Amino acid sequence: MELTLEQIQDFKGKYPRQIWSLFFSEMWERFCFYGMRGMLTFFMVYELLMKKDDAQLQYGATQAFVYAFTFVGGLFADKILGFRKSLFWGGLLMIVGSLILAIDPHQFFFLGISFTVVGTGFFKPNISSMVGQLYKSNDNRTDAGFSLFYAGINIGALIGGYVCIAVGKGDMFSSFIPEDKRWNFAFGFAALVMIISLVNFIFTQRSLGPIGLQPQKLNSDGIYQPLEKWKEYGTYILTLVLVPVIMKMVSVPEYTDYFMWTIGPLTLLYLFYEMSKVTTAERNKLWAALVFIIFSILFWGIYEQSGGSLSIFAAEHLDKKLLFFSADPNGINNSGGAFFVIIFAFVFSFIWLWLSKRKMEPNTIIKFGLGFIFLGLGYYVLFATKFFASLQGITSLNIFTIALLVITFGELCLSPIGLSIMTKLSTEKLQGVMMGTWFLASAYGQYVAGRIGKTLSEVPVNSTKLVALNTYAEGYKMLGIYALVAGLVLILISPFVKKLMQEVH
Ligand code: GLN
Repeated sequence: MELTLEQIQDFKGKYPRQIWSLFFSEMWERFCFYGMRGMLTFFMVYELLMKKDDAQLQYGATQAFVYAFTFVGGLFADKILGFRKSLFWGGLLMIVGSLILAIDPHQFFFLGISFTVVGTGFFKPNISSMVGQLYKSNDNRTDAGFSLFYAGINIGALIGGYVCIAVGKGDMFSSFIPEDKRWNFAFGFAALVMIISLVNFIFTQRSLGPIGLQPQKLNSDGIYQPLEKWKEYGTYILTLVLVPVIMKMVSVPEYTDYFMWTIGPLTLLYLFYEMSKVTTAERNKLWAALVFIIFSILFWGIYEQSGGSLSIFAAEHLDKKLLFFSADPNGINNSGGAFFVIIFAFVFSFIWLWLSKRKMEPNTIIKFGLGFIFLGLGYYVLFATKFFASLQGITSLNIFTIALLVITFGELCLSPIGLSIMTKLSTEKLQGVMMGTWFLASAYGQYVAGRIGKTLSEVPVNSTKLVALNTYAEGYKMLGIYALVAGLVLILISPFVKKLMQEVH
């Protein structure tokens, strides 16, 4: 029997049971996404023999486009496809992309990547929106649910991020896979898990009741009717046309600049237009959502140093001692965050539930403020690595890992909570777009991160490694200060934003 929304949202216990299926679909999707992400730069430099700085720029461009497309994916979900069809279409495009790469990565690299970029745009925001729909807008178990979902994201990210590149480089399964087929298998793994994700979702649909169905239109007699089919098919065709466009845009770095300078203002204009059509109470909530979105750009700009300047810092300035083991500093930099999220997501989820039972749970804006404060403290710890440096400019991996831990605390106060609050503050009709805009802020974060990273790596020529380390450390201290100030500002403006949020907290 088909469940009603009431029945789904009136669940007993900590989590709605449907969250587990969405957890697994998203986990496999992130395996595919982070698996690919981990291979991109390496493959471009060592297999396609591209120049290192070109590869970096193109990597940055794909990341910016991936997150920017979440806005497009969210928009089409709200207006035409609904969450389920969007997710299915996005998943299908991701499978096609990774299969193209599995067949001939050298020949079709950018074509395959472009399919995945568009596919992720349709998949990623819409699965997150569906998690939100499992809860009534004022259920205080929502944040804990998103923390759990976030753990799923990071399990996928951790395993995928490790397995794909290790298979490609021949560090894993090399006795089964012929040497000249390693990359085909590596990309093939991404395709395989994406198929698992989608099949899992097909089985999930039955338990989702009305959640994520295609929107309907009201006819002149006040009766809801299905949308015209051409709109749906038109969306599919348009998406396919976008694939070669992305391919071209990724290949010319200036195009990314133009794109980033256009999409943000256009999005804001569109949101203002939508905001003019809703009631004052709804509009105020959307303003509050925009405050969260704007601050998150700064958060990701600082946080995403991990893919850029911190990976150079790890490669050049860290020893290999982690507690009693020997470890690869870049491996720790890449996967440490995901590892800590998996462990601490549950701890945070229990803390939020425990506090909410005692009516002491901080509201979202304070949690965001705390997120920035942890981020700032984490960057202070990165700064402090300079006090443990040898004269050769090598410092402690242990201290660096503590910094990752503190930064992850910040991530856990902001990122899952951000997903949760987007679903609570959006009107029914704007769920997808608002979630897309939340991720669009990540696109800008990536973009800002690249610029900050470039400034940080500008060390005078001929300087010693110790001077280089100190330059990075000073840069991280500045970032730490920015984050702390942003945290304080958020806490100071919290009464005002709380007013805009009304009954949502
Ligand atoms: N790591 C999280 C994910 O992959 C958050 C990414 C982001 O919003 N920048 O979902």
